[in-house]
Amino acid sequence: MTSLIKKITAPNGGVFTGGGTNTYLIGKEDVTVVDPGPYIQSHLDEIIKAGNNNIKRIIVTHTHKDHSPGAKPLAETLKVPVIGSFAKFDMSIQDETFEPDQILYDKDIITTSEYTIEAIHTPGHASNHFCLLIQEEKCLLTGDHIMNGSTVVIAPPDGNMTEYLDSLKKLDNFDIKLLAPGHGDYLNDPKLVTNWIFNHRLTREEKVLQSMQKLKETAIEDLLLDVYDDVDPHLHPIALWSLEAHLIRLEESNFVTKLENDHWRIIS
Ligand SMILES: [Zn+2]
Repeated sequence: MTSLIKKITAPNGGVFTGGGTNTYLIGKEDVTVVDPGPYIQSHLDEIIKAGNNNIKRIIVTHTHKDHSPGAKPLAETLKVPVIGSFAKFDMSIQDETFEPDQILYDKDIITTSEYTIEAIHTPGHASNHFCLLIQEEKCLLTGDHIMNGSTVVIAPPDGNMTEYLDSLKKLDNFDIKLLAPGHGDYLNDPKLVTNWIFNHRLTREEKVLQSMQKLKETAIEDLLLDVYDDVDPHLHPIALWSLEAHLIRLEESNFVTKLENDHWRIIS
């Protein structure tokens, strides 16, 4: 898609990962690998081959198990540093093998003779999530902040809906022409994409609020059937996380409250 950026998709397709996790290689003589994916040796071998002995560093957008476990074995093989950030909360979806050599911070710049990478902290899907802007290409590697073909899961407590929406708006401050997502194909027209996602989330939140007004007090599982009646039941276990994230956001705004029996109640 661009002369600087190469995409290799890991063979880990599934409900969470779509066609698989995308690994990106930036540059030709001084290569940065972004998101080596899960630890799958055949995939790491492909990355090494595509890197042509020029891989200098590995960056991970976040530390979910489909993005970062390949980083450690790849770094050990190539003797290059891993750059990334730690998540605030331990959850089963986190990669426990993650050991960065360098912590990534918001606004960090990585400069090579070929390109410049700007790190943009985008919490929401995960507290330690970063998007990476390749400035010369105006191309944003979005990790799981924006996916192509599926809705991003927001799993509390490390996932946070308010942070997610703020992080979507944050991208408006950057000159971006192309999105390179962690799952699925490249996306043109970033502004259209982020606006659509933002409105989609707020529409869902409105539906949560309407259901709560109708049900008054409910277990989250019953609320789920009402709010996600348009979504394939196979995806309901995933939707449950995002629903909880919506409820926590509504609780922050004093629209609902969580009771001691774990039911949710509308505040009227
Ligand atoms: Zn992912």
